[in-house]
Amino acid sequence: MRSFMFILIALFSINAFAQPAYPSEKNLARHIRYLASDKMKGRGTGSEENVKAGKYVAKTFRKLGLTPLGTDGFFQDFTAKVRRVVVPDSLRPARNVIGFLDNGAENTVVIGAHFDHLGMGRQGSSKADKPEGQIHNGADDNASGVAGLLELARYFSQNKEKEAYNFLFIGFGAEELGLQGSRHFVNNPTLALAKINFMSNMDMIGRYDPGRGVGIGGFGTSDKWPEIFKDVKSDIKFFTDRAGSGGSDHGSFYAKQIPVLFFHTGGHDDYHKPGDDYEKINYKGEKGILVLQIQLIEKAMQLPKLQFTEVK
Ligand SMILES: [Zn+2]
Repeated sequence: MRSFMFILIALFSINAFAQPAYPSEKNLARHIRYLASDKMKGRGTGSEENVKAGKYVAKTFRKLGLTPLGTDGFFQDFTAKVRRVVVPDSLRPARNVIGFLDNGAENTVVIGAHFDHLGMGRQGSSKADKPEGQIHNGADDNASGVAGLLELARYFSQNKEKEAYNFLFIGFGAEELGLQGSRHFVNNPTLALAKINFMSNMDMIGRYDPGRGVGIGGFGTSDKWPEIFKDVKSDIKFFTDRAGSGGSDHGSFYAKQIPVLFFHTGGHDDYHKPGDDYEKINYKGEKGILVLQIQLIEKAMQLPKLQFTEVK
């Protein structure tokens, strides 16, 4: 009986070991509940809680064995400018969090998501009637994208495969103040931009609605995307959009002539309001979107470095 148990345990461990580290709903929920909890006070740029959110990303990168590729460990500090002045201060400390997965390859795939949000409603762009003093939790915008970033980092670093490209995982700061973290990165890159194959961005991937499907932008930014998207199998409904700029951090990479993808489940009534809470996230849908994204990235990595195409 005892040896039978040992065999069972051994079989189970071998099986668990052989499983690729696919994104899990449980992990997504854990990340989003933490980042979008009231105690994180909406992760506004310049706040103590925004720093905490950045450290959470760095801690996860470290645990996964990624190489720090910021300017100070995993961090790349910069100063964000608040253009729409709601409070007197117009400069706020901000940072990107950058981790590298070295596969010994020539070129690198960038995966990103912004971790800042609107804080306590004093930095502008809230859609609430009286935003000041209200916690803007930002579960969909963009704790969902950060959870996706962390789960993709886990997948690609723990799947026991050496892919044909390296990976650079970036948590961007100050997106809500006008893509400032991603713009700071492309203007002060810690890895040569010429070595970037393409950039995949997640901003609001937590409200999957099977009726609408997930939108995937950037389809026009390389002639190869149609070939890569062909015969993709997924339970997730999706549609493509040719545009490479607009709305989020992928736009900063597109402006530097780098092919992009942009995953987005669409606007909703809680957008930029205090009600963007973790209870409303579709975790199963988000997991499906990440598995779809993995499939697309893995197909793209079978090809030589993508050529950029400008979208007319
Ligand atoms: Zn966002």
